[in-house]
Amino acid sequence: MPRHILILGGTGEARRLAARLAGEKNLHPIVSFAGRTENPAQMPVPVRVGGFGGIEGLRAYLAAERIAAVIDATHPYAAQMSRHAAAACASLGVPLLALRRQPWTPVAGDRWREVDGVAGALAALGETPRRVFLALGRNEVRAFEAAPRHAYLVRSVDPVEPPLAVPHADYVVARGPFTVEGDLDLLRDHRIEIIVAKNSGGPATYGKMEAARALGLEVILLRRPDVPDVPAVETVEEAAHWLDRTNLSDS
Ligand code: NAP
Repeated sequence: MPRHILILGGTGEARRLAARLAGEKNLHPIVSFAGRTENPAQMPVPVRVGGFGGIEGLRAYLAAERIAAVIDATHPYAAQMSRHAAAACASLGVPLLALRRQPWTPVAGDRWREVDGVAGALAALGETPRRVFLALGRNEVRAFEAAPRHAYLVRSVDPVEPPLAVPHADYVVARGPFTVEGDLDLLRDHRIEIIVAKNSGGPATYGKMEAARALGLEVILLRRPDVPDVPAVETVEEAAHWLDRTNLSDS
């Protein structure tokens, strides 16, 4: 009987892991999305969408679907989902592995300032009107309506609807990966003075960080949230090997 493996998704790593496991006869992977984007990337394995209903909901799902192991391949900022996975798996004795990207670290020429959440970013932008590139999710940019003195460029996977209630905002709807050349053009074309972003790690959205360095721009980075202390790897291959080595209960 194939073992049921739950991959908590929303990242390129989750998609690549699903592709890596899709051909394994003894595994039955399923990817879970929060449902944050309207058209999530196509998956080569079955997909479920939407929250589980907290820790209790996830516990019930793991039991009902006879999940033999969970791989938490969520975005580094999706910390609540990671905490729920750690609690539910621990209480049921279901093996859990986190597939986590390392954060970016500054190199010579970077002008980064770390802040706590969007409130910290708003404070860091200050009182003087500035031209700001918001490289954040569409749910997070709404908070910047509190600072209508700035002019915003918002790049998000889905349109920001309704548009921000500020006098000056431009929108780019795009899904990574992004290139440094493309991001240089974007920052220059919009005469951006400062960037607000998450420290997502990985290459897909690093272009803007290189572009900021080349243009000498400051980057306000939202600090990464704490994630639970569970076994973790950094690559899809390591995650696949962990599954090979782990004693998976019968589905
Ligand atoms: P979160 O704060 O960790 O999760 C909030 C709730 O969303 C969870 O408690 C869970 O609901 C549901 N959820 C999250 N991930 C899920 C998954 N893979 N499958 C099923 N349900 C899931 O995460 P978030 O609200 O989505 O985002 C927090 C931050 O992460 C934001 O900065 C966002 O931009 C960033 N981010 C998230 C994703 C993503 O796919 N979630 C992708 C890229 C970036 P229940 O409690 O009901 O189970």
